[in-house]
Amino acid sequence: MERQLDVLIIGSGPAGLSAAVYAKRAGLSALVLEREYRGTGQIAESDQVDNYLGLPKMNGYDLGEAFLNHAQELEIRFQEGTAYDYEKTEDGWSVHVEDGQTIHAKTVIYCAGAAHRRLGVDGEEEFVGKGVSYCAVCDGAFYKGKDTAVIGGGDTALGDALYLADLCDKVYLIHRRDRFRGAASTVRQLQEKENVEILTEAVPAKIVGEQTVTALELKDGRSIPVHGAFVAVGMQPQTEPLKGVVDLDDAGYIIADETGITSAPGFFAAGDVRTKALRQVVTAVSDGANAAVSALEYIQRQQD
Ligand code: NAP
Repeated sequence: MERQLDVLIIGSGPAGLSAAVYAKRAGLSALVLEREYRGTGQIAESDQVDNYLGLPKMNGYDLGEAFLNHAQELEIRFQEGTAYDYEKTEDGWSVHVEDGQTIHAKTVIYCAGAAHRRLGVDGEEEFVGKGVSYCAVCDGAFYKGKDTAVIGGGDTALGDALYLADLCDKVYLIHRRDRFRGAASTVRQLQEKENVEILTEAVPAKIVGEQTVTALELKDGRSIPVHGAFVAVGMQPQTEPLKGVVDLDDAGYIIADETGITSAPGFFAAGDVRTKALRQVVTAVSDGANAAVSALEYIQRQQD
């Protein structure tokens, strides 16, 4: 059996990489388990991150690469794999990975983030990859010169609409309420774009098409002719394997404050996956640092 790690970090987004840097610099043996090779989480899907202190107008992919390179310069260990079960043992945690391996660690820092929430209308599943997308930065280029709809009213939807406006012939921003959740400054930028049409109090009912999407139908009976529908209706925390392991809130987020301490001893949470008011790169990075320090203190207490 391999020697027990001090800390197993789940996820290689900003929270996980920051936790890894702090753990390594504190002299802890750490391993980052990432679902995809050189993945940096949601940040890679942002065209522009303009609110990370000191690095204005940064492309999200490039910022993620900079984080990753920093961790790699410190020779932090990475392994590809998906953990599906977390078992508390007498002296730590046994984490079962889908390839059949079990990883033993004194502590776990869980930074698996959140995944794209589904809109939940007819046609959505059928047309995923054939006109329905959850990532404008990844798929926008396929819709150059075409008409698209962005569904949602948060910062992601607003940013997606802005990004697509520079590529597409026409962009409809479809929001179910009359007030946006995202930044007013971005709404103003969108209002100034001639090829953006903002439809509020517009509730999607169905995505229709033949081989690919041809229209988005609204509950009020309107049919919006589009080639692509970009769904940006929020995120779902990636906590499915944690039911019965740590306390989650009603929406599925791990209950933890900025220390990352959860209801389970030696199990810490950082980034978008925990209960918090502001889910941003800067708060994820700060969470990772805090959780690594909490893990270090926990290990030291166990040794006393
Ligand atoms: P979000 O803020 O939760 O917004 C989700 C939006 O989708 C809301 O406007 C919501 O409508 C709408 N929605 C949810 N379910 C729906 C449904 N079934 N049908 C139609 N509309 C639905 O999610 P987000 O935009 O992904 O942002 C997540 C977090 O990341 C936020 O804290 C955001 O500030 C942050 N973020 C920041 C940046 C940046 O600063 N550059 C970029 C992206 C995201 P209601 O408003 O009616 O609830």
